[in-house]
Amino acid sequence: MVLDLESLYTDLHRHPELSYQEHRTAQIAADGLRERAIEVIDGVGRTGVVGVLKNGDGPVVLLRADMDALPVLEETGLEYASTERGIDLDGVDVPVMHACGHDVHVTCLLGAADALSATREEWRGTVVFLFQPAEELGSGALEMIADGLYERVPRPDVVLGQHVAPAPAGTLGAHAGPAFAATDDVLVTLHGEGGHGSRPESTVDPVVMAAATVMRLQTIVSREVAGGETAVVTVGTMHAGTKINIIPHEATLGINIRTYDSAVRDRVVAAIDRIARAEAAASGAEREPEVEVTDSFPVLYNDEAATERTMGAFRSAFGPERVLDPGRVTGSEDVGALATAAGAPIVYWLLGGLDPALFRNAVANGTTDAGIPSNHSPHFAPLIHPTLETGVQALVVAAREWLARSGEPSAESADGPAQTRLVPRLDA
Ligand code: ZN
Ligand code: ZN
Repeated sequence: MVLDLESLYTDLHRHPELSYQEHRTAQIAADGLRERAIEVIDGVGRTGVVGVLKNGDGPVVLLRADMDALPVLEETGLEYASTERGIDLDGVDVPVMHACGHDVHVTCLLGAADALSATREEWRGTVVFLFQPAEELGSGALEMIADGLYERVPRPDVVLGQHVAPAPAGTLGAHAGPAFAATDDVLVTLHGEGGHGSRPESTVDPVVMAAATVMRLQTIVSREVAGGETAVVTVGTMHAGTKINIIPHEATLGINIRTYDSAVRDRVVAAIDRIARAEAAASGAEREPEVEVTDSFPVLYNDEAATERTMGAFRSAFGPERVLDPGRVTGSEDVGALATAAGAPIVYWLLGGLDPALFRNAVANGTTDAGIPSNHSPHFAPLIHPTLETGVQALVVAAREWLARSGEPSAESADGPAQTRLVPRLDA
């Protein structure tokens, strides 16, 4: 059965599902694998689906796509825009949108399954097609591993995957070394002494304490992190109070940190703790604040040699002008856990999804930071063509680079199969 990438993609886009609720998406993935006679193991890490295509002796290559969507109200105006709603983990009714493009990833991975299963006579080895839940929570990959992933499917020799990004459609790029930031969530609870809004002298106001803390936190990156290092500290939530004329008892700050180096990360966490305590003391608080790291996941480290090998295959197949080094990304990804648990290298690349004309205009106007909707924006709308075709071809080219050629079961240690140019060059 011929796979229609566009209709698969627009269907997934219309029906996004929140983390760990990817039942419909998982079913589509499982059905698509089974239709191509690929063995399916489902329900791994709740909604995860894994296809195993064994095709003789040779290397094991794992290709990964994440499946979940976000609680965002879509404002793209696309004909296939989502109008879905869902219930989040707190029981709140929320709009749902594929605002991170994981629908692109699912479509491309099924496209790769289609292409690799149709060309079995050309390669040897095993391909593991992994559809992961809950990337947006940073827990889906770990949940699959904890659910016995590698007891149920062959352990990969390499983990490969991609993320659609606001780079020109038709381009690909990976950064060797630390590529995606580590992220930590820190919850700070500041304790004051509440009272009547008309009598501040009888209280310790946690709202002022929180405000001072937020401002002082801004000095961590500018004054405590070395110029050659990178960190981001964002106060994403700030909660206090129930009524205008009441000074509340406490205030909470939810802080998100991005770093590439564990020493920098430890320094930032320590600075948050120190500043919260100092501001509480400066306010005259009797009770110390609580500072708690509630969620963490590590840097995604692209193996240098594996990245060079895979990007070399991309340059041969797509032309060097379509393969870029995007530098380090401050976004975070949990896909690295799949490689760490397997003891395998990972190569995780960016797949351009932006209308190249839009990109050229933004570059000309100096508005690439503000004028282009990025992942998680309600306006994020990847261009369907050639993004989907490029994403499928990238997975196939990368997998074939690591698999053996027919009659050459040990090609992993050789130079790898010669890649033919699969696609025409794109202008500009
Ligand atoms: Zn995301
Ligand atoms: Zn994402």
